Amino acid sequence: LGSLARAFEVRWVAECASTNSALLDAPPADDGRVHVLVADRQSAGRGRRGRPWLSWDDASLTFSALWRFPPGTPQPAGLSLVAGLALARALERLGVPGVQLKWPNDVLVHGAKLAGILVELLPARGRALTAVIGIGINLRLPADIDLPAAIPVTALDRVLEQPPGHPLPTRSAVLAAVLGELHPLLDIFAAAGFPPLRSAWQQRNAFADLPVCIHGENDTLTGLCAGVDVDGALLLRTGHGVQRVLAGDVSLRPL
Ligand code: ATP
Repeated sequence: LGSLARAFEVRWVAECASTNSALLDAPPADDGRVHVLVADRQSAGRGRRGRPWLSWDDASLTFSALWRFPPGTPQPAGLSLVAGLALARALERLGVPGVQLKWPNDVLVHGAKLAGILVELLPARGRALTAVIGIGINLRLPADIDLPAAIPVTALDRVLEQPPGHPLPTRSAVLAAVLGELHPLLDIFAAAGFPPLRSAWQQRNAFADLPVCIHGENDTLTGLCAGVDVDGALLLRTGHGVQRVLAGDVSLRPL
């Protein structure tokens, strides 16, 4: 982490039900640092709406970071997009070409999911926002993987471009790369929200101008993906004009 080391307190445990739940249930005291919990194994890793996030011991990196934002930080809606952007930049820096973002919280390469993000908020104290940013990255996939996923799955060893025989980056190296990108981007978000980061996100939009459908609890919308707005809402071009779609109980799928 180099010069950022003082900004983080990293705790690495062998096993945990969910690193997000652990930080949400027992938030560490505020000592001015970002508290990071890494687990070798998650027994109940979660995606959005309680969907499972699977991991395979040292073949996955799963961690959560508790981020305390100063009072007056913008609405948290853009946070998972900013985390996705940081993750994309870190993977690019490690040597992964063609990293793309799937609104609102996934990282794809060649249309397959390499990493996922789950942002959850602690109850607000005054005007200060505290978020737990959970990240899962596949480093290698088990040979017999049978993941009932709507989106194909990939891993770092399949997408990293590096000389033959070169070892995969260690989990610590991947963690350091991600935290090193998260810090400056979340500082920008705290000061100015999502707008300054919007175009960097859109450059990596996996579905730019492509037909997609948005599955909600009770209905499905279809249209062309027209990017995201300044709050991080998805813009969907439909026969009735451009509609804003808020992340929440919706999932985006290619048509
Ligand atoms: P999706 O469009 O894939 O459903 P989502 O954002 O709606 O994405 P999330 O809740 O973020 O879904 O992620 C949980 C889903 O991710 C699971 O339902 C499963 O399909 C898939 N998944 C679980 N573990 C992994 C993994 N290690 N790698 C890739 N995908 C996974």
